[in-house]
Amino acid sequence: MEKTHIPKKILIVEDNEDSRELVVKVLKNKGYVTVEAVDGEEALEKAIAEKPDLILLDISIPKLDGYEVAKRLKNMEEFQGIPIIAFTAHAMKGDREKIIVAGFEGYISKPVNIRKLPEQIRAYLKGKWESILGGEEKQDIDC
Ligand code: MN
Repeated sequence: MEKTHIPKKILIVEDNEDSRELVVKVLKNKGYVTVEAVDGEEALEKAIAEKPDLILLDISIPKLDGYEVAKRLKNMEEFQGIPIIAFTAHAMKGDREKIIVAGFEGYISKPVNIRKLPEQIRAYLKGKWESILGGEEKQDIDC
């Protein structure tokens, strides 16, 4: 075991229990530490308290929606370098623009592809932050 290896911490914000538990299970299997939140207020609290390395943030959540949570976090100095990834079934062109404006660094489409998820998370942790704009030119998301 590598002594210097510190597992990355991922905050998963998702109000759908089945979806949240699936993502948690997949990421725990890959060695990540996971923190969970079920609504916008809890998302802000956990983000500030737990200082995650990445936030996977559902757009449609109770209290504050994902756009609002992302905007508020990106207004804080400590979240400038933290990737906040939209977790959404609505990644149509107009939504992707809203996602960029809100300050998200990328998105992962729902329903989640459990084989692709670990690589997507790893890429975002490594700073693959241009993916929304790149994806917009290359493809139309069907959903
Ligand atoms: Mn939701």
